[in-house]
Amino acid sequence: MSIVDDARSGVITEEMRIVARQEGVTEDFVRRGLAGGHITIPVSPYRKVKICGIGEGLRTKVNASIGTSTDIVDIAMEVEKAKAAERAGADTLMELSTGGDFTEIRKQVIANTTLSVGSVPLYQAFIEAAINDGAVVHMKEDDLFRITAEQAKLGTNFMAIHTGINWETVKRLRNQGRHGGLVSRGGAFMTAWMIHNEKENPLYAEFDYLLEIMKEHEVTLSMGNGMRAGAVHDATDRAAVQELLINAELADKAHADGVQVIVEGPGHIPLDEIEANVVLQKRVTNRKPFYMLGPLVTDIAPGYDDRVAAIGAAMSSSYGADFICYVTPAEHLALPTVEEVFEGVISSRIAAHVGDMIKLKKRDADLEMGHARRDLDWERQFHVAMNPDRARQIRAERMPADTDGCTMCGDYCALKIVNRHFSF
Ligand code: SF4
Repeated sequence: MSIVDDARSGVITEEMRIVARQEGVTEDFVRRGLAGGHITIPVSPYRKVKICGIGEGLRTKVNASIGTSTDIVDIAMEVEKAKAAERAGADTLMELSTGGDFTEIRKQVIANTTLSVGSVPLYQAFIEAAINDGAVVHMKEDDLFRITAEQAKLGTNFMAIHTGINWETVKRLRNQGRHGGLVSRGGAFMTAWMIHNEKENPLYAEFDYLLEIMKEHEVTLSMGNGMRAGAVHDATDRAAVQELLINAELADKAHADGVQVIVEGPGHIPLDEIEANVVLQKRVTNRKPFYMLGPLVTDIAPGYDDRVAAIGAAMSSSYGADFICYVTPAEHLALPTVEEVFEGVISSRIAAHVGDMIKLKKRDADLEMGHARRDLDWERQFHVAMNPDRARQIRAERMPADTDGCTMCGDYCALKIVNRHFSF
């Protein structure tokens, strides 16, 4: 019995109770969300994790992706990134290594985090084919499913699986023309494999077999977004919408089979298309949890893409996205450092909160901060702050003579002046 089966038969599990407590909703609200496919709680029979609910009516969650590349393989650094992401308040972690010993890296990352961990099994399958057989297009279908099951047994809680790329999707990608090409590694690997081998995507063709693996190991299926736009000029194009439609149909099937599902979304989107993307995604997937990758709302700010993505993430969360994949300042430039991972998580958490202020009307912390600022109560301000250490550090570096106010206005602190004459 999966957690979805439990929810359908009216059973409230410990995970549902924890999510209800965390979110301030009823246990039955969580149960109904799971039964209807609107809420997901990534779990694993192989590992206990910090429980985290994702979906309708719940706080917007933030994922941090880490992992090696072929150029930089430093397991200790990836472990530090995992710890930094958790310290910064990430809700989940994706381990997306593409270089080094995949199993060893994943084991060490999993051993050093309490967060739910996600993966993209096809990376390992395609890259091992490139190493052992000379090219990614020589990937063997059996290896793809074997690696998926092996990663599940390591305690992976959710997996991004590129089910929505089939010949229809590829045809639309060809006919569409693109300004920014194809930026999803999974999308690129699979499209190249299909064209070279003249075969259908095995994750689409053998979807029932994939579901058996997901169900056996109780992995949450995160339906990958291999056609996502990599440039704002390609947002919401036919290839991306085609992939979404296929994923939406398969998501219904997965949920009916008792597998938890998340559906991933784009990518790079201009501000005025974000609402349409969220509404479309929620509508065609029957309100499955929506995992938004960014979105980046402009392409011309490399070095600041955490902020670019935060603008898009705040809007997408406000319209109903449930889960945000962070972006670091190093995006489009290099593998992120530990510090950049930390910054990326904070930027995304701010965005998720801004979205929740609209989506869930969650404004208690902002009210508390308003009062603390009015009362010049600095400890209370730090307590409410998203990153108290940073707030404390900046103030401490530039302390005023009179410690009630701050060095911004010094003797002419508006609050000090008015508080002497006025009681709010
Ligand atoms: S000095 Fe200016 S910025 Fe600082 S607390 Fe007073 S009013 Fe606010």
